[in-house]
Amino acid sequence: MPPRVKEILEKDFWRKEDIARLLASDEDEIIFEKAAAVKSAHVGNKVYFRGLIEYSNRCAKNCFYCGIRSGNDKYTRYELTDEETLTAARFAWENRYASIVIQSGERSDAAFTEIIEYLIRKILEATGNELHITLSLGEQSEETYRRWLNAGAHRYLLRIEVSNPALYKKLHPDDGLHTHATRLEALAALRRAGYQVGTGVMIGLPFQTFDDLADDLIFFRDFDIDMAGMGPYIEHPDTPLYRFRDKIPSPDERVRLSLKMVALLRIMMKDINIAATTALQTLDPLGREKALRVGANVLMPNLTPEKYRSDYLLYENKPYVHDDAGACGADLESRILSIGNRIAYGEWGDSLHFRERLNQVVSI
Ligand code: SAM
Ligand code: SF4
Repeated sequence: MPPRVKEILEKDFWRKEDIARLLASDEDEIIFEKAAAVKSAHVGNKVYFRGLIEYSNRCAKNCFYCGIRSGNDKYTRYELTDEETLTAARFAWENRYASIVIQSGERSDAAFTEIIEYLIRKILEATGNELHITLSLGEQSEETYRRWLNAGAHRYLLRIEVSNPALYKKLHPDDGLHTHATRLEALAALRRAGYQVGTGVMIGLPFQTFDDLADDLIFFRDFDIDMAGMGPYIEHPDTPLYRFRDKIPSPDERVRLSLKMVALLRIMMKDINIAATTALQTLDPLGREKALRVGANVLMPNLTPEKYRSDYLLYENKPYVHDDAGACGADLESRILSIGNRIAYGEWGDSLHFRERLNQVVSI
């Protein structure tokens, strides 16, 4: 007889079949309770804010799932001006977010490398070196990663998207620009350069199985990641993947699976940072709060100027009309308090896992 959920939860180390069994089980509450206890014991009840600046929707890539892929001509392409970027960063600093994420479509031309380097320096200058900067700008050379790190960036988010190379191939064009091996090498380069490295996956994709998701969690553990950002895949009508929309789990099921992935990752990697993602909120208005309850400890309120938001729609129904205006005020705060968490204003909230790894290196 296969082990019961309770027995698996008591084990110190999970093999792939254990994880797949937990993902397939309907005993969600026992898993969520365990994850909440692990969160409380290891990272506490603090929620760290990262103000999200969607810097540009220009992208050289053409991922089959993403609304801002280069092949979609329905959006007006933009990039924020320097002043708009600085204003958003200053807003984060003045509201004591302590940390921002600069995200963008992927470009690797010299002009892009330079402007990002310049903006990192300017932001730090304008905020008394007090803001921590996370970048989410796709695959770059190790040299570029190092340049941005030297300019003052601290963390980098690059989702592996799916850890199964065959599935990765199905979700991307076969044009030499989108290879799983390059993605892996980019993650390794980020680690070598010295960033706090975050990665993640989309959950509920066409053709994805419980075994794939179990492999994703094992990938995170083996790579020894510092941060994770995972959320449900959400279809977008102007993408090639849209035609498989009847091959994906229902929105409720994708939310449930995503919450389970967060909870299982929290149990497996007790001291990393885990984001409660916007995609979860898109499918369930309380999705982010639910994720915080079962293990997540990071929220990314959107600071992109409103006039650009309708051109950064990665998927359909992405909330963009001022939904996070309350982030600096009562709304989000009271929702966070209502689940027994509190916002850690003014704290960088570095991954404890990263700090621990640094300590080990220093003491060797
Ligand atoms: N271009 C950079 C990259 O790909 O790493 C950063 C920006 S990209 C828009 C950020 C993330 O959006 C991707 O890693 C992907 O997981 C997510 N994303 C794109 N399309 C999505 C969709 N249809 N549903 C859910 N997430 C999506
Ligand atoms: Fe570009 Fe990132 Fe979207 Fe892929 S996921 S098309 S790299 S913005």
